[in-house]
This record gives sequence, structure tokens and C-alpha cells, in this order.
Amino acid sequence: MQHKFLIVGAGFSGAVLANQLAKELDCTIDVWDERSHVAGNCHTKRDAETNVMVHEYGPHIFNTDKKEIWDFVNSFVEFKPFINRVKANYKGNIYSLPVNLHTINQFFNKTFGPEEAKAFIESLGDKTITDPQSFEEQALKFLGKDLYHAFFYGYTKKQWGCEPSELPASILKRLPVRFNYNDNYYNNIYQGIPVNGYTELVEKLLGSSKINISLNKKFNFSSELLTTYNHIFYTGPIDAFFDYKFGRLGYRTVTFEKHTTDGDYQGNAVINYCDETVPHTRVHEHKHFAPWEAHDRTVYFKEFSKETTENDIPYYPKRLEKDKIMLDAYRTEAGRSSGLSFLGRLATYRYMDMHHVIGEALHFSQSFLQSLHDGKSAPVFPNTEN
Ligand code: UDP
Repeated sequence: MQHKFLIVGAGFSGAVLANQLAKELDCTIDVWDERSHVAGNCHTKRDAETNVMVHEYGPHIFNTDKKEIWDFVNSFVEFKPFINRVKANYKGNIYSLPVNLHTINQFFNKTFGPEEAKAFIESLGDKTITDPQSFEEQALKFLGKDLYHAFFYGYTKKQWGCEPSELPASILKRLPVRFNYNDNYYNNIYQGIPVNGYTELVEKLLGSSKINISLNKKFNFSSELLTTYNHIFYTGPIDAFFDYKFGRLGYRTVTFEKHTTDGDYQGNAVINYCDETVPHTRVHEHKHFAPWEAHDRTVYFKEFSKETTENDIPYYPKRLEKDKIMLDAYRTEAGRSSGLSFLGRLATYRYMDMHHVIGEALHFSQSFLQSLHDGKSAPVFPNTEN
């Protein structure tokens, strides 16, 4: 039997799923995306003025500790090694991030070795916090108030638009704290950037003749679509799918102020601005994401964070308690459907990196293919908990 599938969204989730279904099945797959390009928020494009490859929706550095995911993406396009070495600008000084021995020594004007620094930072930690529940408690317990206020409080308040005490500890756990001079922003062993950008990678994932891509095509669910398609895979925001019937899930969005100039503007790909009084969160200069290229001109962006309203692109799921209650209602509603699955960062409303999205889409594809093979109902979500 020839299957006919609809995949809504041409980001990594939709593209990986389409790739896997096309590889395994006799099928046609329509992929719709409401934007004018594929690759979702990972979309890259050469800047017309400077010819620099720009990560149009903000910096994306591929990093994973899973060899199979690294091999998978490298089987489509060439990656070059890239290590993200972020700097922090705070009260007129430049520091090394993530917080490491250099940061500690600079900040406290010391020459500690690793063990001394560890003991010193431990002595600063708030001993009254045993089981940190929030971003703030996690930071105060492990860093103490001075480092927390310098590098995390202001940045996080700007980034999330609320007090860090209202945010989950999991957000801070994304960042390592190190007692050596390793300033690699990520811990994962495989790190790089595709030589020709992420859009080429997504185009290659979608390269099968079984896949038909429609851009600028908005999706509105109607049950009639289930008479045309054997299965619909939706990777957009779950609240939008249900026309926001239980309300809008909270997201932060980011906006960019673009600048071009000659030469090198800041000498690094990313500099974070940690003072609460500086309105932007960070500045990214994109030619530094491709150090294998040479450019006379440069393009950089000041990034600002704000609450997502109706016409903004959702970036970071806030996942406050009220959001989680709403998400539960949407997931229950989705669970009542048949012929429909929900996949990816927006449809599952989670803070996911590219490698998480790709890993989950690969795993979900296998589960879906298995369910077809076994004649069982397809999984509605890739994850059980919310
Ligand atoms: N963060 C911070 N100061 C920094 C960088 C990050 O306080 O200089 C906090 C902030 O709350 C941010 C979180 O750590 O949302 C995770 O940072 P990450 O760099 O992983 O964010 P992303 O790259 O996803 O924007």
C-alpha cells in the first residue's frame, strides 16, 4: 500500500521524520511550512551585503555526545569543528564563560588553583538550600550570591522577563561551572557547524523524490485532511493546532538589531551582556561562526528578549506552572485524536537543542514505523511526561 503523509513544519523534526519515512516506505510525503524557507529557526542564509553566513534566528552551534547523531548529520553535509567560547561583559569588564577558573580568578582578583577555587566557591554557597527548586536556589547553592548576581541574575531577568526565583533549576543546569580553564561553552564531545549552513542540511534531509515541499503554506486542521492523508505529523505549536482553545502557552521570543561594519567588530562569535541595565542580552557576530571563511565586512546583531505576542515567533517555552496545566489540557485533547502525531520543540513545548530534536525525531520515526508494521495505533507524542 502506498502511504500518503502530511508533515506540518520543515524544521529539524519534520525534516528528519520525512527523511526516515521516505527511506523506509512506499509513500508520498507532503511537507508544509508557513515560512518562505525550510529549516525553521535553524535557517541560515548568506547576508546580501557582507556575504557572511547568517544564522537568521540566532546562533546555532551543533553539539552532541551521541556518535550516531553526529554521524547522521555528517552523512548529509560537511561540518567543520567549532568551539563556542562565549565572553561576558559585566560592569565594564570582559570575563570568560561558562564560569570557569579564569572567571573566578578574574572576578575575585585571585590566583587560585582548581582545588582552592572549589573550596572557595563552596564556602560561598548558600548552605541553607538543600534541594534547590528554582534557578535562583540552584545558583545560590552552587555559586554564591556574588557570581550569581554578576553573571546570571541580570541576564536571566532580561532573557526570561521574570525573577530567576520563578524559573526552574533545569535552565541553569544547562550551563557547566568548571574549576579549570576550559572555556568551551558545551560539554558534549562532538561540536561543529555545517560548512554551508543548516539550511543545506535540512534541504538534503528533504531531498527524496517522495517528498513534496510547500512553503508559505499555513496549516489549519480540518478532519477532512485525514481523508486525504493516512497520517498527519504536526511540529508547530500545540496551542495553535487547537486554535488556543485552552489559552496561549507562554514563550519568550527574541528580536535582533542588525549592524554591518568593516573588519572585526568584537573579535568573538558571542558576547553576553550580563548587566540588567544593558537592554540587550548578547551580541553575535556571525563571521566568527565560520572561521574558515574570510570576509572584509562584518555583520553583527544585538539580541533582545521579550514576551511572545500573537505575531511573534515562539522561541523559549517558559513552562511556568500555569503553562504546564494548560499543556496537560492540550495533550489530553491530542490524545483523543487518531491519525495525528505531535513532534518537536513546539508541539511538545520543551526547551530542546538541535541534537535533542534530531535524536527524538529519529527515535519517533522508528516507533511510528514499528506501529505500522505491527498494525498498532501510532504514538501521539514522542515523550510521555510534560
Ligand atoms: N544565562 C545567564 N547568563 C549567561 C548565559 C546564560 O544567566 O551569560 C542563563 C539564562 O537564564 C539562559 C540560561 O542560562 O536562559 C541558559 O543559557 P544558554 O546559553 O544555554 O541559552 P540559549 O543558548 O538556549 O539561549
